[in-house]
Amino acid sequence: MGRRIIIVGGGVIGLSIAEQLLRRGITPIVLDRGVFAKEASWAGAGFLDLRSVARVGGALFELCKKSYDLFPEWTAQLKKDSGVDPEYQNCGSYDVAFTEAEESSIRQMETNLKTFGLTGRWLTPEKALALEPQLSSQVRSIFSFEHTSQVNPPPLSRALLKVLQNAKADLREFEQVDDFLLKGKQFLGVRTNKGIIDADGVVIATGAWSAPLAEKLNVQLISKPYRGQVVMYRGQPKELKHILFHTSSTGITYLVPRMDGHVYAGSTLEDVGFDKSTTPEGLEKLKTGAVRLVPGLAQHLIEETWAGLRPGSIDGWPYLGPVTGLDGVWIATGHYTHGISLSAVTGQVMAQLVNGERPWVDLAPFAINRAPHPASGL
Ligand SMILES: Cc1cc2nc3c(=O)[nH]c(=O)nc-3n(C[C@H](O)[C@H](O)[C@H](O)COP(=O)(O)OP(=O)(O)OC[C@H]3O[C@@H](n4cnc5c(N)ncnc54)[C@H](O)[C@@H]3O)c2cc1C
Repeated sequence: MGRRIIIVGGGVIGLSIAEQLLRRGITPIVLDRGVFAKEASWAGAGFLDLRSVARVGGALFELCKKSYDLFPEWTAQLKKDSGVDPEYQNCGSYDVAFTEAEESSIRQMETNLKTFGLTGRWLTPEKALALEPQLSSQVRSIFSFEHTSQVNPPPLSRALLKVLQNAKADLREFEQVDDFLLKGKQFLGVRTNKGIIDADGVVIATGAWSAPLAEKLNVQLISKPYRGQVVMYRGQPKELKHILFHTSSTGITYLVPRMDGHVYAGSTLEDVGFDKSTTPEGLEKLKTGAVRLVPGLAQHLIEETWAGLRPGSIDGWPYLGPVTGLDGVWIATGHYTHGISLSAVTGQVMAQLVNGERPWVDLAPFAINRAPHPASGL
């Protein structure tokens, strides 16, 4: 019999690790205390972004770039194996400036990107409007960057689940892990609300809820939820072609056009604990920001609004690696605003670790017990 590995948490991170374990001949047990992929991984916009991490640089940028480069092949394989399309698109992005100050902060981002050899181009409003006719005519300048892609998070998770189901992985919803069974430093299993499961190893991938679980192993994780509210507009396919970003002194608004025409408007970034409700102020801010970018959205039906909790960390960098002093326990969490972007590489490196391979990325900068990075991603 093969090794029994438990993944705790069935968000995009847990599911990606499970899928990569399958590809290494290990059929995992995946446990979620709720329904699979209905927390942050359902709520997320799904843009695969290098712009924002260029500011942080270092190993975090390198990890995001590796993941970014894995997406076309990974999602094509998932689509082939599952019959579900994760809707990967290299749609590119426009950073929109309405003022001189906004333009100069985009120029700073451009400088950061250039240090990694990535360039974009500036468009006049006339040129941008010719390429993206729904854009506001009030824009001052636009930075067009082709190295921004997207996936649609719900079908990405459905594709991962289908691959796991096809391989007869043991997938259990509504099973919450409450504690761990250890003999000395050796991991023996987990205790859940339904009983005990014996196993050879465990990966904790419980997103914003990771700290209390890690505490059971005497691991102090700084993990904090950051709420993001979202407005989903109904639209026509190809009405918008690019992801639009607007960063101002009051926050970030972005519009992500889906293949079926829906336009995802995000998002707030709030430190309000585990409260997943939307607020009238939060939604109003998003709607105002969305209509400023694309005035026509004022006439579009709002189909749904929601909020999700991004898993924070001590410094906005994920925690990826083994728990020091224990055998057979790994953690993959704290992906903050980059969890969808980092899912491809996280699945690979964690499966490599669990399988006893040397991960093809140096994971020291992401160690569980690290000191916070001075270049914070928060
Ligand atoms: C509004 C919003 C927009 C975002 N946009 C983007 C984006 O455009 N690009 C990007 O890269 N990222 C984005 N993110 C971030 C991204 O969604 C997250 O980083 C990512 O989904 C985290 O995945 P996860 O699997 O770690 O966590 P989750 O998806 O939250 O999954 C954790 C799972 O663990 C389960 N769980 C918790 N405790 C237990 C337990 N004790 N036992 C069993 N199960 C347990 C939960 O039920 C949950 O299903 C966004 C997030 C939000 C909220």
